[in-house]
Amino acid sequence: MITTKLKIRVYPDPCLRKKSDLVKEVGPTERMLIASLIETMHQNKGVGLAAPQVGINEQIFVADVGEGPMAFVNPQISKPRGSDIMEEGCLSIPGVLVNVKRPKTIVVKYLDEHNRKGKRECGELLARVVLHETDHLNGKLIIDHVPWGQKLKVRKQLKEIERQQKDQGRNE
Ligand SMILES: [Zn+2]
Repeated sequence: MITTKLKIRVYPDPCLRKKSDLVKEVGPTERMLIASLIETMHQNKGVGLAAPQVGINEQIFVADVGEGPMAFVNPQISKPRGSDIMEEGCLSIPGVLVNVKRPKTIVVKYLDEHNRKGKRECGELLARVVLHETDHLNGKLIIDHVPWGQKLKVRKQLKEIERQQKDQGRNE
């Protein structure tokens, strides 16, 4: 399959803050996007990548926690159980690591790349990735989870990213 090289949008790109639209049907266009997302995720050594991160505000994300790539379309999260704090990064917010509290296990219902309904119980890393990427589809980022003790440090890092983005914009 031919895939397109996708450019990862970086904070404060407005695409990252928009709520993504539901996908009516997973067809050839969506499958092509999924293949490109997987390739881009692997190239950047990520464990997940959501469509809004490449400027497409549709409810699609991919994940690979070492069991091979998976696609999730229109994900619906239910049955959150337990809680855990882990450090997370995000390809759209380079260099920033945030301690994020999330449920330990969840159930996710979704459509796969063949438009088939799927349901999966997720634990450990997969639960965390599915929740992180679902946040993206709702315009939410890890910096919205920053605990009080980390706020000042993260704010400084974000200012620096904003400055770099502005400089790049000027050079383009
Ligand atoms: Zn992210």
